[in-house]
Amino acid sequence: MLTINEVFYSIQGESTHTGRPCVFVRLTACDLRCSWCDTAYAFTEGTKMSVTDVVARVEGYGCDLVEITGGEPLLQRDVYPLMQQLLDSGRTVMVETGGHLSIRDVPSPVIRIVDVKCPGSGESAKNHWENLELLTRQDEVKFVIRDRADYEYARDVVARHALIGRTAAVLFSPVHNVLQSKVLAEWILEDRLPVRLQLQVHKFIWGADVRGV
Ligand code: SF4
Repeated sequence: MLTINEVFYSIQGESTHTGRPCVFVRLTACDLRCSWCDTAYAFTEGTKMSVTDVVARVEGYGCDLVEITGGEPLLQRDVYPLMQQLLDSGRTVMVETGGHLSIRDVPSPVIRIVDVKCPGSGESAKNHWENLELLTRQDEVKFVIRDRADYEYARDVVARHALIGRTAAVLFSPVHNVLQSKVLAEWILEDRLPVRLQLQVHKFIWGADVRGV
């Protein structure tokens, strides 16, 4: 069984798959408390569903791209059979994780979007650094950046772990309504960093506080 916060169909707003129609499966619960978290409603709200029922819900949307997110999706053991059954149904499966739990057991065809928490999140001590060595060229790494200190931290991690070229993308995302995207863009350009500036497109389409989109 899984505890599911919501299942919905929307436009992918993050990652290199931005702009694609996608079904999102949001799992309940997270053991981190990032200062800028925009899905705190997923910490406790949820209903029990079997893996079979979740797969049937996803199939009902007739969409070949599905993202499993949270909360922290890797906290629930049945997320692994869910990923496998979604793969078996022929879909492209992505999982977005906070980066503090091992991604070792995620089936290899699943595209892993792994956060590295910067100091401004308040959770950078929890980063599971071994994850960065497990990434493949289909996976993506995401840094949510609140201020200049976060930017310099992210820039250092990218260099220290040689992330450029080992992954599909290194995403630098400003905290919405806290760090101006223009400021982050200028820092990236000044340093000639080959990372990808990521804006949360769904927030520009539907608004920052709208759920289920
Ligand atoms: S890991 Fe994600 S869900 Fe958990 S507190 Fe941080 S931003 Fe929120």
